Amino acid sequence: MTRVYNFSAGPAALPEPVLSRAAAEMLDWHGSGMGVMEMSHRGREFGEILAHAEARLRELLAIPSSFKVLFMQGGAIAENAIVPLNLSRGGVTDHVITGLWSIKTHKEAQRYCEARVVASNEAPGERNHTALVPPAQWRLSPDAAYVHLCSNETINGLETHELPDLKALGSDAPLVIDCSSHILSRAIDWSRVGLAYGGAQKNIGPSGLTLVIVREDLLGHALPVCPSAFDYATVAANGSMYNTPPTWAIYIAGLVFDWIADQGGVAALEQRNIAKARLLYEAIDASGGWYVNRVAPGARSRMNVPFFLKDERLNDAFLAEANERGLVQLKGHKSVGGMRASIYNAMPLEGVQALVTHMREFAARHG
Ligand SMILES: *Cc1c(COP(=O)(O)O)cnc(C)c1O
Repeated sequence: MTRVYNFSAGPAALPEPVLSRAAAEMLDWHGSGMGVMEMSHRGREFGEILAHAEARLRELLAIPSSFKVLFMQGGAIAENAIVPLNLSRGGVTDHVITGLWSIKTHKEAQRYCEARVVASNEAPGERNHTALVPPAQWRLSPDAAYVHLCSNETINGLETHELPDLKALGSDAPLVIDCSSHILSRAIDWSRVGLAYGGAQKNIGPSGLTLVIVREDLLGHALPVCPSAFDYATVAANGSMYNTPPTWAIYIAGLVFDWIADQGGVAALEQRNIAKARLLYEAIDASGGWYVNRVAPGARSRMNVPFFLKDERLNDAFLAEANERGLVQLKGHKSVGGMRASIYNAMPLEGVQALVTHMREFAARHG
């Protein structure tokens, strides 16, 4: 068996020990005589799996007890509707545009409330979505039900490295973050967040699971049209078991949380992620223009690194030669073009080193 270095933006690579353990437990979980996929979600065994996953996640992210952890479905795109259905009360919501995901979020919210754009980094040509508007320049609404921020823009490769303190900006609105593509890669300052959501398939586990971490006082205001299965208060009151939860995905998430704890926790992974991102950005910046990343240095994502070859006619050769070395899924998103390396928690430093070596050698060969 040869495993590749998989730079997919999502569904993305999982830690090998997690896959091995899931394989070993596939037919018989802990002597139960059955695999996790076959268990009743109401049984004792799955109850343990769910409780373990939640407890581990709370530990890893230091989630205060005033927050509920909900295991939901539908992905972050469904949350683009579910959040306004639960939190907007049909009123005003504020949206910070940082890239393609936040544009999608704003568009969907308009179906349920008066969704305003309070800041945008749209710009002409190559400058589009390459810098972040400082929070002091956001035109926050005095009556907003919440402020939405995509804290890591997966496609454009921008990351908010310090969450805004909305109180200090004169707003009482809770901050809602879409943290799909960097959750568990760094700590979250919960004093600045009202709700955090994310699909699992970037940094957590299989697709099909969505995590929602929400301050308890925000529950209980869903619009009457909100589907019961998507009403956070209902989901919370039923311990994420109002409907059948994605049991397999929750189990794998729990194994990933165990793996993170084994690695030394989120703080240790954050240091590793900083080192990986630095290595890659330095290689790009030191290439004499052979490779270019256009994102402002302070806004560059540690997780998703888009880059372009100076000579775009070499794109196909770059990808083909990368594939030959076992470096896969490097093609950029169709809306941006070029390349994109997603280097989530499960990507080891050795994978980034192999990519950087390929970039250097490819430039030398084709220079
Ligand atoms: C991947 C991603 C999404 C979309 O997630 P789905 O699971 O397809 O709904 C939304 N937002 C961000 C930031 C993402 O990275």
